[in-house]
Amino acid sequence: MYVGRFAPSPTGPLHAGSLVAALASWLDARAHGGRWLIRIEDVDGPRCPPGLDRVILDQLAQCGLHPDEPPLWQSARGALYEQALATLQNSGWAYGCACSRKQISDALQALGVSSERHGELVYPGTCRAGLQGRTARAWRLRSTAELAGTQDLTLTWHDRRLGAQTQNLSREVGDFVLKRADGLWAYQLAVVVDDAAQDVTDIVRGADLADNTPRQIRLQQLLGLPTPRYLHTPLVLGADGNKLSKQNGAAALELRDAALALRLAASSLGLAIEGQTVAEVLAQAVTGWRVAFGGMMPATEPANLPARH
Ligand code: GLU
Repeated sequence: MYVGRFAPSPTGPLHAGSLVAALASWLDARAHGGRWLIRIEDVDGPRCPPGLDRVILDQLAQCGLHPDEPPLWQSARGALYEQALATLQNSGWAYGCACSRKQISDALQALGVSSERHGELVYPGTCRAGLQGRTARAWRLRSTAELAGTQDLTLTWHDRRLGAQTQNLSREVGDFVLKRADGLWAYQLAVVVDDAAQDVTDIVRGADLADNTPRQIRLQQLLGLPTPRYLHTPLVLGADGNKLSKQNGAAALELRDAALALRLAASSLGLAIEGQTVAEVLAQAVTGWRVAFGGMMPATEPANLPARH
């Protein structure tokens, strides 16, 4: 049974770009006769102003995108993430890390490498062999192929739109954080635990998240969870050529004419829709998605897109 989901982080209201991801995940679920869920990804509490979750749910409802089950809030699910972390600690794949950001950048400098990736430093592995009396601040996952070895791990996977993908997890990402020094759960762990707990079979989301997929597949492997199918949708670019995002101040969706907002979102997915009401647009888009998917979806991404997480 197909289960899809839309998993917004309530750091701002939906904008034109996030509506594309919401619509695509809904269309794919409907086109497959599946179920569609909404999960509010509010693990990063300090970045989620109160009330924005309701604003987003309301915006989705105005667009006729109703979930098949009541939404879940990640902020209420810490016990599940704790269990998953314990599993990874017990198997030795997760280890405590005592390093501050400054210590990490100093260690990298001493090694003569500038391992930066989307503003994140590729962790040099300082605490991999133990804390040497220091106290763990965060928990990280070993990104190597084997528990004891240093051999690189390269993951390959298939994206339904982008095709074959590959990433050297050890070199390109490194040992990534599962639980942060401030006690907050990392997106990577929470998303994997919840997708499995909700029996999600298909993940349809924006292409800026494609880069996170190998980390999530690795966690699925180590936790003994199934790997869903993935489809990353084209990003909506602003007039300046940059991806629209809450961070760069993309305008909240104008929903006085929800049918128009949906037609625009559908056109970003390569679907030309003429319907005038929300119901008409959605019905035509489901048909269009079925027919056009694979054929009309743009196959290449603009270069140098900023990535999230
Ligand atoms: N909550 C994530 C975000 O809005 C998306 C999660 C996902 O679709 O995997 O950035």
